[in-house]
Amino acid sequence: MNIHEHQAKAVLQGFGVPVPRGFAAFTVDEAVAAAETLGGPVWVVKAQIHAGGRGKGGGVKVVKSIDDVRAEAQRMLGMTLVTHQTGPKGRVVRRLYIEEGAAIARELYLSMLVDRETSRVSVVASTEGGMDIEEVAHSTPEKIHTFSIDPATGVFPHHSLILSKSLGLTGDLAKQMRGLLPALYDAFVSKDMSLLEINPLIVTGDDKLKVLDAKVGFDDNALFRHADIVALRDETEEDEKEIEASKYDLSYVALDGEIGCMVNGAGLAMATMDIIKLYGAEPANFLDVGGGASKEKVTAAFKIITKDPNVKGILVNIFGGIMRCDIIAEGVVEAVKEIGLKVPLVVRLEGTNVELGKQIIGESGLNVIAANDLADGAEKIVKAVRGGA
Ligand code: GDP
Ligand code: MN
Repeated sequence: MNIHEHQAKAVLQGFGVPVPRGFAAFTVDEAVAAAETLGGPVWVVKAQIHAGGRGKGGGVKVVKSIDDVRAEAQRMLGMTLVTHQTGPKGRVVRRLYIEEGAAIARELYLSMLVDRETSRVSVVASTEGGMDIEEVAHSTPEKIHTFSIDPATGVFPHHSLILSKSLGLTGDLAKQMRGLLPALYDAFVSKDMSLLEINPLIVTGDDKLKVLDAKVGFDDNALFRHADIVALRDETEEDEKEIEASKYDLSYVALDGEIGCMVNGAGLAMATMDIIKLYGAEPANFLDVGGGASKEKVTAAFKIITKDPNVKGILVNIFGGIMRCDIIAEGVVEAVKEIGLKVPLVVRLEGTNVELGKQIIGESGLNVIAANDLADGAEKIVKAVRGGA
């Protein structure tokens, strides 16, 4: 789960991390009131969307009067902000963050992420802050420094020294880093973050380290123990279908193609997506209904696929082990009864209770194209969608 910049900064501040003062605003009036409370003389009006690169797209403006705060708030609220991270469709700006302006002497890059290979938290740092870090890594890889922290021991003073050295921080700034790194690490681990990216971390005109931008993601599997973080969820930033799927504990990812897929098992789901591509079409989603799904769960899954306007055909591909084919059949029939079916449906069932499953579908009167195996199923649905046989 991701959160907004202003929320991320509030979380970090709770761990003693220095951030500029600021207030979230949902209306122009709130933005102006926030600016008046902050007092100026410089303010930053920042669009809050779950994507970076806002500055280049016109979503971050440094202004020097309340009138300009108002004008920028008016311009940004409701605008569709397109950045290199939003995709061409962009995101609608629904909230702003009004912050006190900071005098920037240097912009640095600092991030933490879970390195699954070493089972540690990796720290990535660069002197090239404020830039697209992928671009820095590509053109000047020597400017990216990394080290990892062993969770068994946590942060040692030498970690802060290494970090200060790679960022060119000396004297009092290096001393500030001795406090900042453990605070960030503490926030990362205690809140079960999966990513913490600070770009930029700045050195202010009066030699203070400050977090100017923060992007934070959390491990979904640990959210059950962080009610405070769950409360920060902004569903308007998420795909509606993915929200619906998460209510039923389905593994669902929306994609750009036209073939809706309902599959059990992540490996089979990947194979199904691959074979759809092999036959010349694109999957509209990744969906794993899981091992022991109930009829209700299958019904919910099938409804999510059917309601997607991009879906021009559906392929149900089930290899029943723990999952029984009759449960799948009942779920599909139930969903179609409730919301209908306007696109071709190919069903391939195999495994536990397959005969019963086929019988349920056969007796339902549903217009189903039966398939014998994975390749056959993929070929049939692609043909059906492309107007073939
Ligand atoms: P992003 O474009 O989505 O990554 O948004 P950022 O919050 O990183 O802002 C983009 C850039 O705006 C930063 O790299 C800074 O150069 C600039 N910026 C943001 N806040 C301030 C500020 O308070 N003062 C000044 N002078 N520049 C700022
Ligand atoms: Mn940034």
